[in-house]
Amino acid sequence: MEEEPCHKKPKFDDSLGDYKVIENYIEYIHTATNNVKAVVSDDLRDHVETITMYGGNIKQRKDISKTIKLLNEKLPLTSFQHLKRVRNETVLVCPTDSVKEKSIQEYVCKFVPELTDLFENFIEVAVPKHPVKLKKQHAVFNKIWSCNFHPDVYLEKLTSNNFFSEKELQTHKFYMTLNLEIALWYFKTSNLDVVTEDVFACLNVAIVVDPSIDSIVAVGIDNSSSHPIQHATMVSIDNVAKTQKGGAWIDRAKETDGSYIHNGVDKKLLNYLLKKFPVIKIGAKKYLSKTDLIDDEKTTSDGPYLCTNYYVYVLREPCIMCAMALVHSRAKRVFFCFERPETGALKSKLKLHTVSSLNHHYEVFTGFV
Ligand SMILES: [Zn+2]
Repeated sequence: MEEEPCHKKPKFDDSLGDYKVIENYIEYIHTATNNVKAVVSDDLRDHVETITMYGGNIKQRKDISKTIKLLNEKLPLTSFQHLKRVRNETVLVCPTDSVKEKSIQEYVCKFVPELTDLFENFIEVAVPKHPVKLKKQHAVFNKIWSCNFHPDVYLEKLTSNNFFSEKELQTHKFYMTLNLEIALWYFKTSNLDVVTEDVFACLNVAIVVDPSIDSIVAVGIDNSSSHPIQHATMVSIDNVAKTQKGGAWIDRAKETDGSYIHNGVDKKLLNYLLKKFPVIKIGAKKYLSKTDLIDDEKTTSDGPYLCTNYYVYVLREPCIMCAMALVHSRAKRVFFCFERPETGALKSKLKLHTVSSLNHHYEVFTGFV
């Protein structure tokens, strides 16, 4: 008789004394019914941050449009384009902290003397500091002050609980559990019979996938005990580079069959994976390096730049170095399974992928366990 799927999150129990907990995680991820969730920037949350502005109450309604026109010309709210300038009889004049004069009356006299007599009085009003980006925000923000808002269909879906279709979700879960399978393989081939929580927590694995051909391009296993920066993600990116005739670390191509297609994955691991999962595809699309392109006097590049359009599945939340390497290598999406409260750079400590000044942004998803 088949066992009922276990929907309780696996807990590490050292007394199990073998690989059972890792196997439980694999089963849990496959049987859990929830969708994975995007980790989005803080400006997409429900909480409204406000700033204080001076609002002027107009004596006569007929003067409202004239007042707005003049204010937009002389005191434009450049950084607050998301705010409607008027609500009922109150017109936004300026942020309170921009007034250096003794009073708002003096300020108005100085910058828009034409309006001096049109205001009944001035009040301080709290208004949303940031633009509205989501429908659910609009409902909240609008109660505070009227805001301009143009719904973004993609963003609405990204922040929903059903971003991925069931089929897509199964694919993401498969690759994430493959990370755990690789962890199992690693422990077994290291002749480690007892995997404690500490030992498991020290291991990280990353898989890079080309979703356009549903194929594993590279795998990286943490090697930081031998080399301080060879974190799983860094190793996986270097292994991607090897499929593009680059790469800086151990040249596995020489150790294995020299194939550029498969050298993103360790040969022994490759054999294990193909035997256990005959359906998976491993290998990058045929790629010509820049040197080849120049040699052949071709003018177009057929291949990606490192992880362009690739998805990266990593067992543990990447640190800042790895998260930044994923920016530099142009990853498209990053999925991680376990948060790292002390060092994680994609959710726990910061959300590096949401820093607007960076020149590349990838999407991040988690929630497998
Ligand atoms: Zn790292």
